[in-house]
Formats: sequence, C-alpha cells, structure tokens
Amino acid sequence: MSQQEKTVDVLIVGCGVAGLSAAVTALEGGLSVLNLERATPDDFGGGSRWTEAYMRMKNDSEVSDDFEEHFANNAGPNLDLNVLQAVSSGGYEHWPSYVKAHPFPDPELIAKFADSVPGTISWLKGFGLKFEPQPIYLLTQNTTRIAAQGGGLKLIETLREKALGLGGEIAYRTTAVDLLRDDSGRVIGVRAVGPDGIHKTILARNVVLASGGYQGNQEMMTHYIGPKAKNIRPVATGGYYSRGEGIRMALAAGAAPAGEYGSYHAEPVDPRSSMAEAVVFIYPYGILVNTEGKRFIDEAPGTVDAHYDNISRSFADQPKGLVYVVFDSKVEDIPRWKTSIRSDIPPLQANSLADLAKQMNVSAEALQATVASFNAACPPPPKEFTPFQIDHCGTKEISPPKSHWSRSIDKGPFYAYPIISSNCFTFGGLKVNTDAQVLTQDGHVIPGLYAAGETVGIYHQVYTGSTSVLRGLTFGRIAASHMVRTK
Ligand SMILES: Cc1cc2nc3c(=O)[nH]c(=O)nc-3n(C[C@H](O)[C@H](O)[C@H](O)COP(=O)(O)OP(=O)(O)OC[C@H]3O[C@@H](n4cnc5c(N)ncnc54)[C@H](O)[C@@H]3O)c2cc1C
Repeated sequence: MSQQEKTVDVLIVGCGVAGLSAAVTALEGGLSVLNLERATPDDFGGGSRWTEAYMRMKNDSEVSDDFEEHFANNAGPNLDLNVLQAVSSGGYEHWPSYVKAHPFPDPELIAKFADSVPGTISWLKGFGLKFEPQPIYLLTQNTTRIAAQGGGLKLIETLREKALGLGGEIAYRTTAVDLLRDDSGRVIGVRAVGPDGIHKTILARNVVLASGGYQGNQEMMTHYIGPKAKNIRPVATGGYYSRGEGIRMALAAGAAPAGEYGSYHAEPVDPRSSMAEAVVFIYPYGILVNTEGKRFIDEAPGTVDAHYDNISRSFADQPKGLVYVVFDSKVEDIPRWKTSIRSDIPPLQANSLADLAKQMNVSAEALQATVASFNAACPPPPKEFTPFQIDHCGTKEISPPKSHWSRSIDKGPFYAYPIISSNCFTFGGLKVNTDAQVLTQDGHVIPGLYAAGETVGIYHQVYTGSTSVLRGLTFGRIAASHMVRTK
C-alpha cells in the first residue's frame, strides 16, 4: 500500500559527500531538505565513508595544472570530430541536441567543475575541515594531490552534523526506487521503501540523485561491463549500497546517459584481505603473472598513478580474474616500499621460485620459465637505481615489454601477492548541465531533477585520479546553489 508523506523543497537520494554537500548548501539557502539513505546511521555514506579523499589539487585553493587537460585527453575513444567542432564553434545554446546529450565530459561542464573546486573547499574549511598534502601509497606520481584530513568519514560526519543542525532530516534504511512526475514531465518526488518494507510517496519540489554508481549491483555490472563482472568486487563495503537505482530511474524518465558505461575505476587489491582498499602497488618493481604463470601486460609503462587504472582493469580479463605480483628481495633497495601495500596479509614468501609457485597454486615450470625469459630480457642494471623516477630501463625483445625498472628477479627470498581488479566506482552515469540539472536524450532539462557525485557520468578511458570526491562535493553544491537561486 502506498503512503503519502510530506512535501519538502529538496529531496536528496543518498548521504555521501554529494548528497550531504547538496543538503547543507540547500539548508543554508533556506530550503527544507530530506535525505534518503538506504544504510543505517552507523554505516551511512556509501563509498565516501571509506575514502582517504585525495584531491587533484596543488594546494587548498588551486586544482592541479593538468585537471581539465586530463579530462580532455580521456573524453572518449574515437570522439566524433563533428561533436568537437560544434563545441568549439558556438556557445552552448547553439549546440545541436545530440551534442548537448553526448556522453562525453563536455568542456563547459569540466571547466565549471574545476572553477567550483576552490570555492567548495573554502566553504568546507569554514566547518573546520582541513586539506593538506598527505603521504600516499603511490610511490611515483605525475600530478599533485592533497587530502582531506580525516578522509571521507570526517567529511560526511561533519556535513551530516551541519545538515542536522540546520534542520535537515535524514530517513535511514529508506531506499528510493522510482521517480514521480507530473503531466508536464516535472519531477515531483520519489517512491521509496522504508525500513518496514512498505512503499511510500515523498513529494518534493526538487530531487537530487546522489546515490552513487552501480558497483554494488551485479546485474548492472554484468549488463554494462560483461561476464568478467563476476571477477570484480567493490573496493570497500560501502560500494554494496550503490545499486544503481538513481541512474536507472532517471534513464527510465528519459535522461541521457554519460560516462563510459562499460568501465569502472579499478584498484589492485589483495583478495585475501577484508579491509577496505587493501591495495598492492608494488608491481612496477616486479612482474605480474596470471594463474598460468604467464606475464600479460607491461607492469611499468610510466608512473604508477597514470597507469594503475588500466592495469588493474586488465586483471579481470585474466583466468579466474586473479593475478600475482612476483618480486625478489631486491625490493629492499626501495626506501619505504611497504607504504605501497595496504593489505594486512603478508606476502607469500619462499626461498625458491618453485616453492613460491606451489604457494601460488601455479605451475612451477611455467613460473620459472617466465622469470627466466624476463630476466634474459632485462638490460644491464643502471649505474643508479631510481625507484621514485621512471628510469627507461626497459626490457628488450620480450612481449609484453616492461618499460621501466626492469631488474632481474633472482635474489631470494622471493615474494608474491595475489591481486584482483576491484571496483572503486563505475563510470556510467547521467548527463547534466553546468547547474547539475539532468538532461534528456534531446538535451532538454528534466525540470526538478538534479544529479551529483558518481550518479553524474564524466569519466571515460582512464580515470582522472583524485577527482571523484571533488565531483561529489562540487556537484552537490552546484545543484543546491541552483535551487536556492531559482526558489
Ligand atoms: C576505498 C575508496 C577509496 C577512494 N579514494 C578516493 C580518493 O582518494 N579520491 C577520490 O577523489 N575518490 C576516491 N574514491 C571515490 C570516491 O570516494 C567516491 O566516488 C565518492 O566519495 C562518491 O561520493 P557520492 O556521494 O557520489 O557517492 P557515495 O559516497 O557512494 O554515496 C552514495 C549514497 O547513496 C546511498 N544510496 C544508494 N542508493 C540509494 C537509494 N536507492 N536510496 C537511498 N539511498 C541510496 C548510499 O547508501 C550512499 O549513502 C574512493 C572510493 C573508495 C570506496
């Protein structure tokens, strides 16, 4: 049976950084706000709860120099020149509808995103939050990063407290399942299921979809990413709450999809660990082999931050979706190498490759043959080993090649970590304009409907690292600011 509840100015689906940033901004602007959160009060906040919240910024008031450029370089493979010409030859209002609704991250949107970051950070600092450089598990980087002190948990706890203090309400264990629309197509609320399992109608003047991606929905993962989805799991338990309803209900209402639906931001994770983000980033200094004991990819095409997304995605294509990084005790030449590993489970260790292979459940002959041919392809060691700078010390005449830090694996004890491709978040989402309003397949605004955070699709090919927390914080604030301006 359907129950009708109250009407609010702003109904927000989700309580991660995107939903709570929207909530506080709307409340500060004098609007009434209700957030729906499918999790409990102790487990709210989806992926935001688990992130260390690195941000692609030079300092707390400037984004990194390559912020917009990285998005432009990863706007989608084989981008249609007609789309690019339409974008560069006239203002947004003159873009053909197919361009306004194109799944690529349009330059206006990314420029608005980048321009809005400093103001958003400054606003958050007003709540006592601090942003500064922090040590990171990436031993080599090609951009600048800072982080929110206390990570995503501190961000969402602070924003939740602020929202409640301003009179906002949160309905926990309540899941939005459908959008309500009037005859003109305006979104007027949602249908939701509360803790009692009973459907209810919640009317609202505006709805913000800030409900994450679909990393917690195996059916959608398989639908968009393919059968290899069975090999992929969320990088933290918060991902299981992102089941794609926000994206699904908007698509059903005619929204344009954006972002690369068949992809996700991948991280290399030790499957034996139950901790969040149990990453293993030591592979540029060893080799990666699959369960057949064979190499399958260049382990070090450049700095680790520039390539780990693609490399980690490739693991899901390997047999059983399982690979191993194999390295030797020369790893001790790398100062603080253990910071690149966050798994709480020690590596497999043996005095011979044959014994290591046994522990890996991999053929000893195959592993020994792979290591022998890799060692034979390694160049003579450079005068100085520079683990924190790419060294162009590449293999010769071996496929796949290894481009940097190619040192033979010959000094026991030998080590291995199992690694799988884990899913930080999915790339597919909704197309929005620079006010975070959701657009139709014809580039029209869907009145009353906004999206923020992972529910907005902007990523293709390689993730522009350390921009997803910023996407949530910024687009939540952009959406609510527009509602306040137009109330
Ligand atoms: C371990 C980890 C590390 C990361 N590290 C970084 C990093 O360093 N830098 C960076 O930029 N990004 C990082 N990310 C990604 C980033 O944290 C997330 O993409 C971002 O926080 C997502 O924010 P969001 O508000 O869009 O979604 P979420 O934080 O996932 O919030 C979605 C919310 O919606 C709720 N919800 C979902 N569906 C419904 C529904 N139907 N009804 C009601 N509620 C619903 C969920 O319960 C949740 O509260 C990391 C992610 C993880 C998991």
